[in-house]
Amino acid sequence: MDVTEDELLTAIRRVLSDAPPEVVVGVGDDAAVVRPGAGELVLTTDALVEGSHFVRGLTTPRDLGHRAIAVNVSDIAAMAASPRYALCALTLSDAVDAAWTMELFGGMREACDAFACTLVGGNLARGRDVTVAVTVCGEVASGRAITRAGARAGEVVVVTGELGSSSAGRRLRDRGPSWDELERAAIRLADRGQARVGEGALLARHGATAMLDISDGLCLDLARLCAVSAVGVRLRQTDLPVGPRATVDEALGGGEDHELLAAMPAADVGPAAAAMHETFGVPLTAIGDVTPAGLVLLDAAGQERPLPAAGWDHFA
Ligand SMILES: [Mg+2]
Repeated sequence: MDVTEDELLTAIRRVLSDAPPEVVVGVGDDAAVVRPGAGELVLTTDALVEGSHFVRGLTTPRDLGHRAIAVNVSDIAAMAASPRYALCALTLSDAVDAAWTMELFGGMREACDAFACTLVGGNLARGRDVTVAVTVCGEVASGRAITRAGARAGEVVVVTGELGSSSAGRRLRDRGPSWDELERAAIRLADRGQARVGEGALLARHGATAMLDISDGLCLDLARLCAVSAVGVRLRQTDLPVGPRATVDEALGGGEDHELLAAMPAADVGPAAAAMHETFGVPLTAIGDVTPAGLVLLDAAGQERPLPAAGWDHFA
C-alpha cells in the first residue's frame, strides 16, 4: 500500500462524512454508537471474496463497493425491512492501492446514499486476496418482518422485475467488447447488484405471506421458500419475466438477480402489481401457484416436469 493505514482511514472518513443525527459516534472510534428506532432490528451479513464472487480485473472498485452494500440491503428488503446502518470488514491484498480502496468506499457510499443507510464503521486487514465483508442492520415495525415461512397452498407466487439479467450480464461482459443498451444494463446489474427496498415493503402491505430475494437462482430459491413454508409449487415457464437479453435457463437458474420472490393470496396480486407499477415502475408477475406439495415446472410445451433444482449453489 502506498499510504499508511492512518492516512487511509482519514481519507475513508472523508468519503463517509456527514452521518445523520441518529449516528451518535460514526467511523473512526472503537465502535459506532447509534440511536435505535422504534421497531425490531433486522441483521444480515455477506462477503464478496476475490476469485469466488468477483475477479478484480473485470470489475471496477466503485461497482464492487456498490454491490457489496446492495447484496446485503437486498436481504433486508426481503424481510420487508428498511436498511439503516452498515459495517464493512475489508481485507486488502498487496495488489490494490489507496486509490483503489478509496474508489471501493466511494461505491459503498453511493449505494448507502441510494438505499438511505449509513456506513458507520469497519475494519481494515491485510490478506492474500481482497474480501469485502459487509454487515447491514435494518429496522421493521414490530412483528412485521416477512419470513420464508408463511406461504399457503392456494396462494400465488409472484416475482418483481425481470429474471436472468445478472447471469446474462456476466456472460455478455465476458463476450465483449461492444454492447447495446440492454446488454449494458444487464452487465451493470451484474457488476453493481440491486436491492428492492420499497418494493419489499409494498409487497408486505399488499398481503405477502412469505418472501425472499433471489440470490442463487429462481429454482433453488423457490425450492427453499417451499421447504421452509412446507408447501409445493407449480411454476409456469411461459409466465416467467425473462430479462430482455437473458435466456430461459438464465431466468430459471441464474444467480444474483436480487429480485423479490413472494407468495400472496390471489386476490392481492392485481392491486399489488398496480401499486408496484405506479410507485416504482417495476413489473410484478404471477409465475405459479402454491400447492400442498411437490415442485413442478409446467414447461413451454405444456409438459409437467420436476422443477430443476439448478441454481448458483456456492457449495455444489
Ligand atoms: Mg436472501
